[in-house]
Amino acid sequence: MKKLTAEWDSPLFMQVQAQFETAAQKLSLDENIFNRLRVPDKALIVSVPFRNDDGSIRVVPGYRVQHNDVLGPYKGGLRYHPLVNLGEVAALASLMTWKCALVNLPLGGAKGGIQIDPTLLSRGELQRMTRRYTSEIVNFIGPDVDIPAPDMGTNEQVMAWIMDTYSQLKGHAVAEIVTGKPVIIGGSLGRKEATGRGVVYCLIEASKLLNYKLDESTRIAVQGFGNVGAAAVKKLEKIGTKVVAVSDVKSGVYNPKGLSYQALTDWVNQHRSLEGFPEADAVTNAELACLDVDIVVPAATEGTITPEIARKLKCKILAEGANGPTTLEADKIIEDRGDIFVIPDILANAGGVIVSYFEWVQDLQNYFWTEQEINKRLFEIMSTAFQTIHEFSKAHQVNMRNAALMTGIQKVSQAMLTRGFYP
Ligand code: GLU
Repeated sequence: MKKLTAEWDSPLFMQVQAQFETAAQKLSLDENIFNRLRVPDKALIVSVPFRNDDGSIRVVPGYRVQHNDVLGPYKGGLRYHPLVNLGEVAALASLMTWKCALVNLPLGGAKGGIQIDPTLLSRGELQRMTRRYTSEIVNFIGPDVDIPAPDMGTNEQVMAWIMDTYSQLKGHAVAEIVTGKPVIIGGSLGRKEATGRGVVYCLIEASKLLNYKLDESTRIAVQGFGNVGAAAVKKLEKIGTKVVAVSDVKSGVYNPKGLSYQALTDWVNQHRSLEGFPEADAVTNAELACLDVDIVVPAATEGTITPEIARKLKCKILAEGANGPTTLEADKIIEDRGDIFVIPDILANAGGVIVSYFEWVQDLQNYFWTEQEINKRLFEIMSTAFQTIHEFSKAHQVNMRNAALMTGIQKVSQAMLTRGFYP
C-alpha cells in the first residue's frame, strides 16, 4: 500500500488509518473509493493571534479538517488541547464521517482544534481566542457547509461565542452555525448529556444481548469526568447501577460501595478536580481501568487503553465514550482474549452528534422539541444502530469495531458511487 504524505503523521491518524484499512479490506472496497477516503477532503491551518490579559499578543495554531461530505454538510467538534495537531484532527474528522454514516445522519465528518491548554487561559483570553479563530475560519464553515460543536476542552460558552462572532460577521443571528450551544440561543434540550446518555443506551442494548442485569450488583468504572464521563455517571446511577470508580486528568477515586454523582459534581465544582474526594481511595487512571468491575467506560481521551492495561482488564464490557481510547495493539490483545465485549467509539459516543443533528434541524425549522421527544428519538437511533451493527458483526464474523467501521464506510462508498465522479 502506498504510504501517505508526512503531514498526517500522528499516532491517532496511524491508528485510525490502520483500522480503516482493515475494514476496507474486509469490505473489498473499490480501490478508487479507498484512495479517496483514506485522506480528508480539505484541511485548513490558521494562526490565531489573540491578546493576553497583560496586553501582549500570543499566536497559536488552529485547524479545521473536513474529511468527507458525500452524505451532507461536514460535522464535528472543536478541541482545545495542548497536544492538538493536524494529524490528530484529521483522524478525528474521519471518525466523524463513519460515525454520522453508521447512525444514518445526513452529515459528513469534520473536526477542528486549537493547540492550547484552555485551563491556563482567563475567560477573556478564551473568548478572544475563540472569536479570532472563528473569524479565521469563517469562509470555511457554514450552516450548510460545516457545523462545529463542542469536543475536549470546549463547551456551551465557547459555542455561544462562535455563534455570536459568525452572526456579527453575517449581520444577523445564525443559530444553526454550531451545535452544543446554550438553550437560550437555540441550543437543544438534552444536548449536553447526549453523549454520556448514548453510551448508557448502548450498555442497555449490550446487557439485553449478553443476558446480564444492569442493577445495583453491576460495578462500573468511568475514566474521565468531563462532559461525556460525568453524564454517563449520572445516567448509570439513575438506572440503578453502581459506579465505583471515576477519574479525571489529575486523579481517580474508588469506593467499592459506590460513588454519588451529586457528591462528585459538588466536589469538582468546588475544587476543580476529583483530587482529595473524601470517602474514597485514590487510584491512578491505569489502576482504575484494571479494577475488578463489570464495565469500564474510557471517556477521557485517546490511547488510554494501552497493551499493558488491555492484558490486565477484568471487565466484561468496554464501552468507548472517548474517541480512539484503545490503541491498535491493545485492541488486538482484547480481541485475542475474547472475553471482553467492546462497544467501539463511533457507536458508543454517537449520541452527541445525534442530538447535534436534532439541534441543527430545530434551528433550521425554528421549531423546538421537548426533552422527552429528544431522548426518545436518541434512544431509537442508538438502539437501532447497536442492533444493526451487532447483526452485521454476526453475519460477517467480524468484531464490533470492524462491523461499525464497515457499516459506515459502506454507506459512504455507496453514496459516492451513486453520485458519481466529478468532473
Ligand atoms: N465532538 C463530538 C464527537 O466527537 C460531537 C460532535 C458533534 O456534535 O458534531 O462526536
